[in-house]
This record gives sequence, C-alpha cells and structure tokens, in this order.
Amino acid sequence: MTTHTVLNPATAQPVTEVPLASAEETDVLIERAAEAFPAWRDVAPGERARLLRAFAAVVDAHVEELAELEVRNAGHTLGNARWEAGNVRDCLNYYSASPERLFGRQIPVPGGVDITFREPLGVVGVIVPWNFPMPIAGWGFAPALAAGNTVVLKPAELTPLTAIRIGELAVEAGLPEGVFTVIPGKGSVVGQRFVEHPAVRKICFTGSTEVGKQIMAGCAEQVKRVTLELGGKSANIVFADADIARAAATAPYAVFDNAGQDCCARSRILVERSAYDEFLGRLESAVKGMRVTDPGSDPDSEMGPLISAQQKATVTGYLDDVEVAFSGPAPDLDGFWVPPTVVLSDDPAERIWRAEVFGPVVAVMPFDDEAEAVRLANDTEYGLSGSIFTRDVGKALRVARGVETGNLSVNSHAAVRYWTPFGGFKQSGLGRELGPDAPNAFTEEKNVFIASD
Ligand code: NAD
Repeated sequence: MTTHTVLNPATAQPVTEVPLASAEETDVLIERAAEAFPAWRDVAPGERARLLRAFAAVVDAHVEELAELEVRNAGHTLGNARWEAGNVRDCLNYYSASPERLFGRQIPVPGGVDITFREPLGVVGVIVPWNFPMPIAGWGFAPALAAGNTVVLKPAELTPLTAIRIGELAVEAGLPEGVFTVIPGKGSVVGQRFVEHPAVRKICFTGSTEVGKQIMAGCAEQVKRVTLELGGKSANIVFADADIARAAATAPYAVFDNAGQDCCARSRILVERSAYDEFLGRLESAVKGMRVTDPGSDPDSEMGPLISAQQKATVTGYLDDVEVAFSGPAPDLDGFWVPPTVVLSDDPAERIWRAEVFGPVVAVMPFDDEAEAVRLANDTEYGLSGSIFTRDVGKALRVARGVETGNLSVNSHAAVRYWTPFGGFKQSGLGRELGPDAPNAFTEEKNVFIASD
C-alpha cells in the first residue's frame, strides 16, 4: 500500500501517514457510489434537505477540531481555518434549501404543454486543490448532493486530513452508505479514474490551469460534464481619488491571505501615478506590520507558511530575477516560510507580472488613466478576481464592466461569498460555482411534452 506522509508546513515535522487509494480501489468506491445513486435520487426532497441540515449540524459541532486539523495539515491561520470549517457548514445549510426548490418551467406549446425537470446526473467527482481544502470541497459536494447526486471526492495529496474527517462526519449525520465518499490519492491515479470511469458523470475540478486543460481533454472522450475553477493573476486597481489609506491597509490581505496561495490573490497592484508614492509608503507600513507567525502556537497569526518545500522553491525562484522593494517579517523556523514581499514592476512582459506565483509576492505598477488601467488589468490569460478602489461610482462601474474577470469587488478586498456565483473568464475556468443556481449545474434539464388534445 502506498502512503503519503503529511507534514506540518510551519515546522516541516510529520503529522501522520495517509494511505493512498489505488486505481482498483477507486473503481470499487466509484461503483459503490453508483449503486447508492438511485436510492439517494429518490429520497423525498424534504428528507434530503433534513439530512443536509443534519450534516451541517455535525460539521458545526466539529468546527474547532476541523480548524485545528487544518492548522496542522495546511499551515492555515486559526482564524482562517475556523472560517473555512464554518463555510462548509454554511454551504450545507444554504444548499439544504435546494432539494425543495429544483424548479422546472411550464412552456406553452400548440396541442399541449411542455414541462421541464431537473434530473441529477449520477456520480459526481469532485477534485480539490491543497490551498483551501475545506471550502472548495464544500462548494462542490454540497450543491451536488442537494441536487440528488452521489459524490466521490479526491482531496489533494498534501492536504487530505480535513476532507477525510468531513467524510466521517457525513456518515455520523446519517447520510446513507456510498452517498459521499472521500478517496485520498494521487491525481494521476484517483483523479484520473474519476475522469475515465464512465459511471462518473461530471467532474467538478479546482486546481491549476495546466491540469484543468488535461481534465477537460479527458472528459471530452465521454462528453463528460465539467466545471473548471483554475488559476488567476488578478489586479487590484487603485485610483487617485480613492481612500488611499484604506486601499493600502487592505491590499496585503487581498494578496497575502493564505500566504498568497489563493486563486483570487490580487497579485498585481495598479496605482494611479499621482497617488503612487503615498500608496507605496502606506503599503510598506502595512506589510511590515503583518503578523507572520506559526499558526500552531499563535492563534492571532495573520499569515502562515507555504504548503511545501517545493512550493517555497517555486515561489522564491520567481524572486531570482527581480528587485525586492520591501518585505515583511517571517519567523526563523524549519517550515516553508517566505515573507510577504513587494516588487516594483514597470514592464508588463516581466515574468513576475504575468505568472501565477501562488505565494506571498505582489508586483506594483503605476498607470496614467482609466483606459490604461483596464488595458493592463486585462493583459493576462487569466480572469478570476479583481478589486477597484475609487470614490467615483461611475468610474467604478465602467472599470468593473471593462475588466474581464468573473468576480470583482469595489472598495473592498473580499472576494468570495457562497450566496453569489463564483468562477473565471478566459483560462481561469469554465462554469460557475456557488450562488443560488449552483445545484442546476449538477443536473440535466429534461423537457417533457404532454398532449392535451
Ligand atoms: P493541481 O492542478 O496541481 O491539483 C489540483 C488537484 O488535481 C489535486 O487534487 C491533484 O491531485 C489533482 N490532479 C493532478 N493531476 C491530475 C490528473 N491528471 N487527473 C486528475 N486529477 C489530477 O493544483 P494545486 O497545485 O493543488 O492547486 C493550486 C492551483 O489551484 C492554482 O493554480 C490555483 O489558482 C488553483 N485554484 C483555483 C481556484 C478557483 O476557484 N479558481 C481555487 C483554488 C485554487
């Protein structure tokens, strides 16, 4: 049996060993999920809703345990990890309203009436990255289960512990055997079987654009449904008329949250030239004042380590050919630490301006007018998130309409809410998660004509 040693990224010390499923074991569990599907589909909507609320209640009772597990497994700050476990509970509660609201339509046609149904797909395969193991799992499995599908879920190799525990909590809450199965393993083994096995009818993938393209190509073989939530290189656009103090104070949290390992990280800051010096001065104070400490021993830590030695090497590799303007603190520990780092950029062709670094590194560039800001923001293959700081409502609306991304915030650094849709333009993804319509993405629409003559 192959196993993976989970390390605490703050200290590089082993936490536990996790067995990795083989292709054969994965097939058995997929087939068990397929067998569980007809009975789960036929559970009365109100009863399915009750079971999802029961699942939410059990997660709620274990928020602290899940949060502490995530601090050890992923190096998340305790505050973030508590929010993440709570987000799983909130998503389950939110989508527990869906089974009773999978509405169809009635379409008038000559000679009768046509009615629509929302039919669940069967087994849904959810593939999760390591950066936000709990919320991203929940954004997939909660609406998929609510729509009447059974779910197999593959956590990332590096961060399987909270997903495994949530799988146990589902059984404790009363979900029938085979309805929700967590299968730890390698992407090239377990993830690949999700793509290849014909009983898996949809892949809900979150991860890198590179792997997302392979998944999309693999799914094409069976015309398998797919949602892709991929990478980003989002812009934070600060106009001179904005509340510069607020923009500078929040900018670190828009990019350095989760040590920059965030698909929505606003890792390019565009600042209108007349406010550039003031903004940079304030940003420097904010970055130097960040509390970068071991989340395992400091519950007030604001930024923890990177996930792995490999990720640290990748991130610091991006700093080889740039000049660092200033950086914040980092503790002297054996884990995978990189301080929050600010780089000044004046050339949109530079690697640091274009690549998704996925670490605590931000590049800052001045611009001269609104048109240039929009052009620079859009000069990327990605289009996931973004922020705009201005006091001019008209400008905020024009720029928000001009920026090619799926999610934007004005005068705020907050990026994701479970009750509004989330997803990317361009190579940041395909389809939307979250929001009230998410369960529809886990159904097929069926039209039935009934003759009345
Ligand atoms: P990754 O693409 O390496 O892995 C993601 C998942 O896919 C893991 O579970 C992995 O095991 C699995 N996988 C790998 N190869 C596979 C294959 N051939 N077949 C099936 N599954 C396979 O991504 P990562 O490094 O874990 O996560 C970081 C990336 O995720 C970043 O690019 C980030 O922007 C992106 N991300 C996007 C969003 C979003 O919502 N758009 C959210 C979080 C992270």
